[in-house]
Amino acid sequence: MATAAAQEELNPFEIAKQQFDRAADYLELEQSLRNILRSAKRQLIVSIPVKMDGGEVKVFEGYRVQHNIARGPAKGGIRYHPNVTLDEVKALASWMTWKCATVNIPYGGGKGGVICDPKSLSKDELERLTRRYAFEIAPIIGPDRDIPAPDVYTDSQTMAWIMDTLSMVRGHTELGVVTGKPLSLGGSLGRHEATARGALYALREACSVRGTKLKDARVAVQGFGNAGSIIARLVAEDGARVVAACDSKCGLHAENGLDIQAVLKHKEETGSLSGFPGVKEIAPNDVLEVDCDILCPSALENSITMANVGKVKAKIIAELANGPTTPAADRVLEDQGVMVIPDILANAGGVTVSYYEWVQDMYSFFWSEKRINQTLEDTMGDAFHKVHQTAQRHGTDMRTGAYILAIDRVAEATRVRGIFP
Ligand code: GLU
Repeated sequence: MATAAAQEELNPFEIAKQQFDRAADYLELEQSLRNILRSAKRQLIVSIPVKMDGGEVKVFEGYRVQHNIARGPAKGGIRYHPNVTLDEVKALASWMTWKCATVNIPYGGGKGGVICDPKSLSKDELERLTRRYAFEIAPIIGPDRDIPAPDVYTDSQTMAWIMDTLSMVRGHTELGVVTGKPLSLGGSLGRHEATARGALYALREACSVRGTKLKDARVAVQGFGNAGSIIARLVAEDGARVVAACDSKCGLHAENGLDIQAVLKHKEETGSLSGFPGVKEIAPNDVLEVDCDILCPSALENSITMANVGKVKAKIIAELANGPTTPAADRVLEDQGVMVIPDILANAGGVTVSYYEWVQDMYSFFWSEKRINQTLEDTMGDAFHKVHQTAQRHGTDMRTGAYILAIDRVAEATRVRGIFP
């Protein structure tokens, strides 16, 4: 195990290419299309000078990658994290291409990132960093070109600053330039919880395929950001028992189930899960190994690897994070009969409601939350079953099934468009 773990590929872009190749083999995809779809269409690297509160100037590095636009404008979030790399952003951009194609929404894939530690920046510094980053990537961003959204450590306020900056540059208010905006600014009802809600709908389908019920399940949730904290609440509302949860610093374990409302309140009040009374504290990543039926990795890439996959006990895994499982760990889970609902399906609810937000902004006509959630449920249910059928037809796992479905759609669009010039 130690050697396998030591040799394991952990570069996200290399992993993305391995996942692509595996499905392309099933599809017997022609070499020319493989070459096109494996690489990123456009990569922009920007340097971002920011006047800090103390008066000095710090220079940050940022990226925006557009992987593919065959089916529509590039779409995908912007992440602020000290460990962001260009290869990570390239991987995340390609995952967006396959995600949008899996749920059949008319977008390509893009992603952005800035190397920074948002927790150490003041709100004013974050605003100046965001506005300058938005200005630097402005030449390739727009409602019909590339539409950013929130991702790790960015939120609706970040999107409001980007939307305002781009609108100032262009001289008119452009609502559809980003999604995940505040409701007061052309945001959509349901967008805030859409990633988790989409995963909830996928999980209900997975349970029915497996002959179980979500309400009878014990669930462990790794990560307590927008995706993790909300899926914990939603599965608990469905009657499931959340036996473990963690943020980046502390894990909580309670075999009888955590009181999620109380945990959310504690996190809100103290900024942390640590110190929550009456339950056992464990290391954050130990949450992946607790005895449970359903595991929801909702943090970062490379969480389930050869180093810990042998200790994973869940029978269903819903990837709310992007890229939480390595290809080597995937093979182990497949051999053990674990159903992995892959990221490009499980967390596609976020970009799906982003799509509804963009449509509403274009029409200046806004939908009810009921209509948003119902349309999302239909989309997720349909995508889940198409992925499941594709996987069954090819005798493969759900991730490869999703890639086969998605690559086929993007390849077909590329074939009929032809290669320019
Ligand atoms: N960052 C989210 C994701 O990885 C949402 C992207 C979007 O809404 O465009 O899917």
